[in-house]
Amino acid sequence: MTMLLELEGVTKRFGGLTALDGASLDVRQGEVRGLIGPNGSGKSTLFHVVTGVHRPDGGRITFDGHPIAGRPTEAIAQLGLARTFQDIQLFYDMTVLENAMIGCHRLTRAGALAAMVGRRWVRAEEAAIVERAMDALAVVGLADQAREPARRIPYGHQRLLEIARALAAEPKLMILDEPAAGMNPSETRSLMDQIGRIVDRGVTVFLVEHNMKMVMDICQRITVLNYGRVIATGTPTEVQADAQVIEAYLGG
Ligand code: ADP
Ligand code: MG
Repeated sequence: MTMLLELEGVTKRFGGLTALDGASLDVRQGEVRGLIGPNGSGKSTLFHVVTGVHRPDGGRITFDGHPIAGRPTEAIAQLGLARTFQDIQLFYDMTVLENAMIGCHRLTRAGALAAMVGRRWVRAEEAAIVERAMDALAVVGLADQAREPARRIPYGHQRLLEIARALAAEPKLMILDEPAAGMNPSETRSLMDQIGRIVDRGVTVFLVEHNMKMVMDICQRITVLNYGRVIATGTPTEVQADAQVIEAYLGG
């Protein structure tokens, strides 16, 4: 069993507040792992610490065999970790295709900005980038909207576009922070199919999601956070029967 991501005793404080309190977990290659917990339990902080947005105050993080705690976001992305954010982050005046192309920059010599300004040496690679971006859009069902400005597509599609952009980087691990937030039930169902297709491509998925039905349906294992601590890890059935988990959700 290969561990793609391992956290050991990871701590993150904001002033006097301990947002992550010695959190340990491991994500296996090829699984869909859920991360759940009450509001403010540290889920987004855990993702930020793993992706280099925040530097942990303690603990070890290993991704694909590399120690990554405290390393810059770009360096971690280069190793094959892509993410979406709880709040959508798109370039609204750019097209759907251009937004997806930005995800490809990990695979090119050009940075995201260079790709946008269209220097000549970027253009030489552009056909390959367009192809990869179109392929990612096809996975999430957005290929026919490639030429639309991102601001003109519906909200649910904008969330899918973020996933396509992450997928275009051909990551080993995709981290999704509340991908179904704001989606209607039919969009949520299609999101679940699309996550299945992403996994079929060999991408490991680690997601935070409030839609419990979705989490229980698509995750092989779930980790539960409460006050910055891991209180349980197990299959959906195990986690739902766990006394500490029930207490965290219902105890108030
Ligand atoms: P979750 O995603 O599980 O809802 P967060 O990770 O966003 O929780 O937040 C965990 C705790 O850390 C909360 O109490 C939150 O207010 C606090 N927190 C998160 N980010 C910051 C920050 N940048 N500065 C100060 N406090 C923060
Ligand atoms: Mg959050």
